[in-house]
Amino acid sequence: MKLNDRGLLIVISGPSGVGKGTVRKALFDMPKHNLTYSVSMTTRGIRQGEENGKDYYFVSKEEFEKRISEGKFLEYAEFVGNYYGTPLDKVNEQLDSGKEVVLEIEVEGALQVKKKVPDCVMIFLVPPSKDDLYKRLRSRGTESEEIIEKRVEKANREFKKAKYYDYIVVNDDVFNAADRILAIIRAEHARTKRSIHKYYELIGEDIEE
Ligand code: 5GP
Repeated sequence: MKLNDRGLLIVISGPSGVGKGTVRKALFDMPKHNLTYSVSMTTRGIRQGEENGKDYYFVSKEEFEKRISEGKFLEYAEFVGNYYGTPLDKVNEQLDSGKEVVLEIEVEGALQVKKKVPDCVMIFLVPPSKDDLYKRLRSRGTESEEIIEKRVEKANREFKKAKYYDYIVVNDDVFNAADRILAIIRAEHARTKRSIHKYYELIGEDIEE
């Protein structure tokens, strides 16, 4: 397989409370795309409404650690006491078949991906303002002020990692944010480094010239 036939690997992160999951779902509802979502593996408990194999692969800590030792993750991280990781085999399979693979993961894991797959596209989702983020964190449920403060603190730390990403997308509106992400993916396809091999092949030129 030629390098340029492989699909793009797209990484979406952002501070907790920014609405990553909602934007990701809106992205997959957009017409005309060739995106596949990489279902992560986690040790956290299944939440109401979630499906094993669709939202996550839910496994025990022992099973997860066994897979770590076997090198079966593209990346993994611990987040609020649980493991989360991207199964390597599936991602490779999908990329090899020319699909665009979307990872929706936290920052630490995203930076591991960037190291292993330097030509991945890193997108950082941000809220329109800090007030907006606080409001979202508060409206999530019935958490105490202390927990909310912890989340705000975590979000502030996560914000600092935005500089490692290729793009920053504002989530002022879910549809607009998904639309911007799709525009980024389209633009990335047109990048010379991703498509030039094809055209050299067309005219029979040597790439090194
Ligand atoms: P939640 O428990 O709310 O579903 O997810 C918690 C956090 O883990 C979110 O920031 C989510 O993006 C992140 N996450 C989900 N899957 C993965 C994964 O495979 N790897 C990493 N590093 N983070 C993940």
